[in-house]
Amino acid sequence: MDIPRRRFDTLIIGAGGGGLRAALQLSRADAHVAVVSKVFPTRSHTVAAQGGVNAALANVRPDDWHWHMFDTVKGSDYLGDQDAIEYMCRAAPRAVYELEHFGVPFSRQDDGRIYQRQFGGQSMHFGGEQAARTCAAADRTGHAILHSLYQQNIRARTHFFDEYFAVDLLHATDGQVLGALVLDIATGELLIIESKTTLLATGGAGQIFRTNTNALINTGDGMGMALRAGVPLQDMEFVQFHPTGIAGKGMLLSEGARGEGGYLINSEGERFMERYAPNARDLASRDVVSRAIVTEIREGRGCGPGRDHVLLQMHHLDAELIKKRLPAIRDSALTFAGVDMCDAPVPVFPTAHYTMGGIPTNRFGQVVAPIEQGPEEAIPGLYAAGECACVSVHGGNRLGGNSLLDIIVFGRAAGNQIIEFLGENRYHQPLHDQALAPVLQRLARWEQQGEGESVDAMRSELTRTMEEHCGVFRTEELLKEGVDKVLSLEQRMKDIRLRDKSRVFNTARIEALELENLMDVAVATIMSAWKRRESRGAHSRIDFPERDDVNWLRHSLYHRHDRTIDYKPVRTKPLTVDSFPPKPRTY
Ligand SMILES: Cc1cc2nc3c(=O)[nH]c(=O)nc-3n(C[C@H](O)[C@H](O)[C@H](O)COP(=O)(O)OP(=O)(O)OC[C@H]3O[C@@H](n4cnc5c(N)ncnc54)[C@H](O)[C@@H]3O)c2cc1C
Repeated sequence: MDIPRRRFDTLIIGAGGGGLRAALQLSRADAHVAVVSKVFPTRSHTVAAQGGVNAALANVRPDDWHWHMFDTVKGSDYLGDQDAIEYMCRAAPRAVYELEHFGVPFSRQDDGRIYQRQFGGQSMHFGGEQAARTCAAADRTGHAILHSLYQQNIRARTHFFDEYFAVDLLHATDGQVLGALVLDIATGELLIIESKTTLLATGGAGQIFRTNTNALINTGDGMGMALRAGVPLQDMEFVQFHPTGIAGKGMLLSEGARGEGGYLINSEGERFMERYAPNARDLASRDVVSRAIVTEIREGRGCGPGRDHVLLQMHHLDAELIKKRLPAIRDSALTFAGVDMCDAPVPVFPTAHYTMGGIPTNRFGQVVAPIEQGPEEAIPGLYAAGECACVSVHGGNRLGGNSLLDIIVFGRAAGNQIIEFLGENRYHQPLHDQALAPVLQRLARWEQQGEGESVDAMRSELTRTMEEHCGVFRTEELLKEGVDKVLSLEQRMKDIRLRDKSRVFNTARIEALELENLMDVAVATIMSAWKRRESRGAHSRIDFPERDDVNWLRHSLYHRHDRTIDYKPVRTKPLTVDSFPPKPRTY
């Protein structure tokens, strides 16, 4: 097959904040950069980020990057790697000023300095009073960041392949990654992009759950590509359920709502978070608040005819403040719940939101992993950044406002590391035709004729199974049953056919390829959850309710080829300061 080829120094798969920040670093250093995105760049999920980005600027209350580091380590339930966390928290103030210089119109205080709101899990003096650390552009922070980064990339002459779908990585027999095979969604034509370095920045995989806050495109494609290339996925059992999704729908009402003074109430009108987190109350960490909501409902204090949700109350606040600081959130509640939060409370329920696990990397964005049971090593030519990666700064539970920070800081760091690599590796390695064989085989599978199961039906069954068996609270029985169901779905995937081939659009092929990625990521998630017999961060086992640092203070690594999980130590040693040793986690 004669597939056209293009050559670049670097291929970046994904045009969200992570991919664009890395691309900018590279283009400004005169590297020849291609960014591939399956949607127009400014439609990437980063655009939907509402609440803001964390940095210890101390504009509203006293603050210090070291306190930010403590909160992040504690928020991660001590599973985060402390070298990476120190690096991120120290870099945060500079990263935010840099964004401002790129053109992000941050909200201001009267004295002209950047406004900072309170977010969950933030404290002063290592666990003291509530801090205010989240910099926001009203409640459209991600929108402002993504558009600014896109414009800066246009100016720096980054080359964009818009609406191209990356199918799989291409690598040499020694494992070096040499680019990817991509598909032009409009024409269905294939293209080989050869590159000296490839960065995966494909975002999260919230779509493995039926009810979630993510864009439809967040199907974990980069994670699927990594798994198929023999790279294990780290800590996949840790999925963040955001406490305030619109009940029954899943759309997000940002933590910024509680940060501005909103609170949760049950059917008795009680502010129940006071019982679960006496100090931080509604601004406890997300895992804590989500569990509290589900517990209230289970114990019969849910609201509505089905007693199946709780309420987020805002209308005790000044309506002008809501309109100024949370305009988009008020709009979402109006559109999807039919409630004006200036007048009445909004029904909410936890919804799948963020993938803490992902492709294992070090703090320079290099993918570092044991390939098929070998020792851990940096995979030549392969990098990952953003939500698809696991550095790991979020460990068992991410703090609000830390993901926009993660993508900016580690997107930049990966860019710098790639610049170094390019300085030492001036020439392209040859990419032989046999590197294409597995991916072409995979594509050919979808051309098979005949009747079979539909992609849509399979996707719904998968996401419903994940929701029922791998949600906020988990047990051995529930997980084991879920593993069996997901594995049998995976078997049935072989019988899928694209209906009525003469009229199949390329989008149907893309949905089929996305389903394969969802399936791989779902198997990784539920198998890792089934094996972890403790409760830590967002992974909450009713049958093992305690955190077990003796046996489980370690990262999991799920390997696709033999479906095994092994474990590696947490990097508890920071770069320059003392470690924060594990302590009981209360808010
Ligand atoms: C509703 C919502 C609100 C949020 N609010 C906040 C917040 O206030 N603060 C905060 O810190 N975090 C927030 N987050 C989390 C944060 O926004 C995300 O984790 C982060 O933006 C992810 O950025 P990313 O660059 O990794 O990926 P994304 O922005 O998801 O971009 C992924 C990119 O990969 C591309 N892609 C994927 N697969 C393929 C493929 N096969 N081929 C080609 N291209 C592909 C997509 O086209 C896209 O360009 C929020 C998340 C959601 C869902």
